[in-house]
Amino acid sequence: MKKIFLLSAFVLGVFTFLSCYDKGNDVLDFSISDIELITSGTANQKMRVYNYFVYSDSLVLRKNSSTISDFNSNYLKLLIDRMYKTVTDPQHPGVGIAAPQVGINKRVIWVKRYDKTGAPFECYLNSYITAYSDTTKLRSDGCLSIPGVSGSSWRAIWVDVSYDLADGTHHSERIVHEYTAHIFQHEIDHLNGMVFLDRM
Ligand code: ZN
Repeated sequence: MKKIFLLSAFVLGVFTFLSCYDKGNDVLDFSISDIELITSGTANQKMRVYNYFVYSDSLVLRKNSSTISDFNSNYLKLLIDRMYKTVTDPQHPGVGIAAPQVGINKRVIWVKRYDKTGAPFECYLNSYITAYSDTTKLRSDGCLSIPGVSGSSWRAIWVDVSYDLADGTHHSERIVHEYTAHIFQHEIDHLNGMVFLDRM
C-alpha cells in the first residue's frame, strides 16, 4: 500500500512538473527554431544579420513581431545580449537593432539614446509608437539589413513610445530629440515588418 502511495506521489510529481514546464512562457515566447538560433552562440557572440536582399531573410524582415511575455526567460536574456554584441560589432556598428534583423520575430529592440549623456544603448521590449508628431522631416537613413543602400526617409520629429524594460516594468515617454525619435521609428518599423525603403 505504501509503495502504491509513493508511486502515485511520484507520478503526480512528475506530471505536475511536466505540466508546469509545458505551460512555461519560454515555450510560448520562442519557437524551437528561435531557441536553436538564439543558443547557437554565447552571450559574447554576435548573431548573423538578416539581409533584405536574401529572399528567405526578407520573409522574416517582413513579418510582424509578437510580444514578450516572460521577462525571466534565459533565452530572452541571451537574445538581448547577443543583439547588443551585433549592433556594437566594430566591423558593422549600428545605432539600433531589432530582433527580426537577427531572425527572431519578437518585439525586442536596442536603441542608441543620443538624447542621453554618453549616448547609451538601451534595450526595450514590447515597444510601440502611440503617437507621431504631425510635422515630418526627410532624414538620411540606412539599415544593417540593407547593406550598401542609403536614402532619405520621412520621419516624425517626435514620437510617444511605450515599452517594457527587461525588469518587466512598463513605461511610456515622448522622444523629442529628432535623431533618437528617428531611431525609435526605424527600429519599431522593423517590428511591424517595415523597412526604411517603405518610408522614402
Ligand atoms: Zn534597420
